[in-house]
Amino acid sequence: MLKKFEIKTAKREELLNISAFVEKAVKESGVKSGAAVIFCPHTTAAITINENADPDVCEDIIKGLKKISPMDKNYAHIEGNSDAHIKSSLTGASQTIIIENSKPLLGVWQGVYFCEFDGPRTRTVFVKVMQL
Ligand code: ZN
Repeated sequence: MLKKFEIKTAKREELLNISAFVEKAVKESGVKSGAAVIFCPHTTAAITINENADPDVCEDIIKGLKKISPMDKNYAHIEGNSDAHIKSSLTGASQTIIIENSKPLLGVWQGVYFCEFDGPRTRTVFVKVMQL
């Protein structure tokens, strides 16, 4: 089963917790045991799994990625957002989660995050749920 979600981001860079979307997709699929692939079809955004308790962690991830890939006008790409393309490649376009007992097998402190690196924009996320 394939689910598609639209997300409106509010800042140039932010991490949005999409765990509830993933849980909903898994529930609606009826899959009890399998896997879910969460995929972002954008070149300046990404999907990651990280801490859901302290929101400072999301801010620090953005801060850390900015250190690795700062905004810089010296890149060749004419659109001027190469820092966002690099952050997207570093973070990755997808995550895979095991499903057991009809639920994503996330750790207590883990959340699934949509990572915006060149917003604000309207974005799409796909969740493919498979019985395995
Ligand atoms: Zn670009």
